[in-house]
Amino acid sequence: MAIDEREFYDEREEKKKATLHCPKCRKSAEYDLAWLVRTKRKQLPPRADENDRAKFAKARSYMVRKDDLVMCKNVQCRKRIEVTGVQSVAFFDGPSPPATLEMDDNFGNR
Ligand SMILES: [Zn+2]
Repeated sequence: MAIDEREFYDEREEKKKATLHCPKCRKSAEYDLAWLVRTKRKQLPPRADENDRAKFAKARSYMVRKDDLVMCKNVQCRKRIEVTGVQSVAFFDGPSPPATLEMDDNFGNR
């Protein structure tokens, strides 16, 4: 039986800082966004077949953003800000994800 892709990864949740700009009060602030981090394991379970190994060889660690909305930090504003301009999926190599994220300027235009 093929191995479930979830067994390729160790899964955990992490907070990452991102600077967001409130469209209402026009203030920028740093927010903690929740990400689901899937770190590629060192090896597959012993029951992996050749097909699993081929897929595993190509697999990369990645993380998926969970937060789509944050509340503006300006207490006089408190608007819900949609998280745009921050990538929603990020691939990475090595044991841990990057501490900061690149802003994707094209995000809003898609
Ligand atoms: Zn605001």
